[in-house]
Amino acid sequence: MSTTKELNRLQSQSNEDGKTLSLFKSTQNVVHEALDKLGYSDEMFELLKEPLRMLTVRIPVRMDNGKVEIFTGYRAQHNDAVGPTKGGVRFHPDVNEEEVKALSLWMSLKCGIANLPYGGGKGGIICEPRNMSFRELEGLSRGYVRAISQVVGPTKDIPAPDVFTNSQIMAWMMDEYSRIREFDSPGFITGKPLALGGSQGRESATARGVTICIEEAAKKKGLKLKGARVIIQGFGNAGSFLAKFMHDAGAKIVGISDAYGALYDKEGLDITHLLSKRDSYGTVTKLYKNTITNEALLKSDCDILVPAAISNQITLENAHEIKAKIVVEAANGPTTLEATKILTDRDIFLVPDVLASSGGVTVSYFEWVQNNQGYYWTEEDIDNKLRTIMENSFENIYHASQLYQVDMRLAAYITGVRRMAEASRFRGWI
Ligand code: GLU
Repeated sequence: MSTTKELNRLQSQSNEDGKTLSLFKSTQNVVHEALDKLGYSDEMFELLKEPLRMLTVRIPVRMDNGKVEIFTGYRAQHNDAVGPTKGGVRFHPDVNEEEVKALSLWMSLKCGIANLPYGGGKGGIICEPRNMSFRELEGLSRGYVRAISQVVGPTKDIPAPDVFTNSQIMAWMMDEYSRIREFDSPGFITGKPLALGGSQGRESATARGVTICIEEAAKKKGLKLKGARVIIQGFGNAGSFLAKFMHDAGAKIVGISDAYGALYDKEGLDITHLLSKRDSYGTVTKLYKNTITNEALLKSDCDILVPAAISNQITLENAHEIKAKIVVEAANGPTTLEATKILTDRDIFLVPDVLASSGGVTVSYFEWVQNNQGYYWTEEDIDNKLRTIMENSFENIYHASQLYQVDMRLAAYITGVRRMAEASRFRGWI
């Protein structure tokens, strides 16, 4: 398949309204099941199935060609019974209202699993950052903050990086918010550069969390990480750091991919070289001739498969052909519910997205705590604190899966929804 064709196919998967909607619907269904298991009435599901607030904004930006372009953005606040809402902002052409809503619900679950004092939030702007200049991105970032400033803040809703947003964008957003409020507000946003109150270890936090999940899952399956064959789909923030951590742990990275194609070598890829060639959007395979498709990569031989790219990758169509013993979801929603069942029946150990990718928001929480107290921790402190939370989260979910006799996904939802439901009940909302 040509690279353009494959890109179109990959993009259309997350573009089709039906697909995104069904992803949101299937998430809602699992939340419903989780609440049933915990003995809550349908009223609780009615409260939690949608965000409490959803803001749509229009952002005018003067582009480099002198013309003004109007961008559409969103901010969803899923539930603030536990505390302020928290979650990233993505810049992507496929952003849409349903997706932002689904992602805010996912954030509530991640915060619940890590037992953070937050509810979930999420934001997004429909744009193509890969074709925008530095100056245009600054205008868009500042414009977004002006548009949402009424509903966000360090004790209300705290944004962070997500797909195609980074520490520079967080810095502009923090500066804009501080100017509006007329005092320095580092706790308004996380994922900032270290010089502006960012935290040690934040950039690599999602991958660190995924690594800890892989270690725990490997223990359950009696698999040694040293020499284990790993495939990572996606070479963005999570995928690239993960490749490094796995390589450092002695695993053999046999496959990686980006939106344009994939590389596979059963003898192991030269990860150090690939990392040095990757651009800031995680593209690297364009430089190589012997590429395979993302589809073929997922079915290739390995011990551990980490989908770290986009949603709906492991489906009814390919779940029977997955060779891995362990699947760890670093992306949001890479495996459909039908595929989850097939993998579980085939005794493939699945670490669900809401657990595997909770390392990012956990270190964001550490960043916010450090901003609030004005005292900063070392990278070692952060790594140790993250490890404690991730290991506890993994064990809690594994325990719930045994107790309720359910798969790891439903167990993660049960663990993730519990505190939010309890807090909503104590507040007298239900
Ligand atoms: N965007 C990341 C996520 O989806 C991090 C969110 C945060 O740090 O608040 O988990």
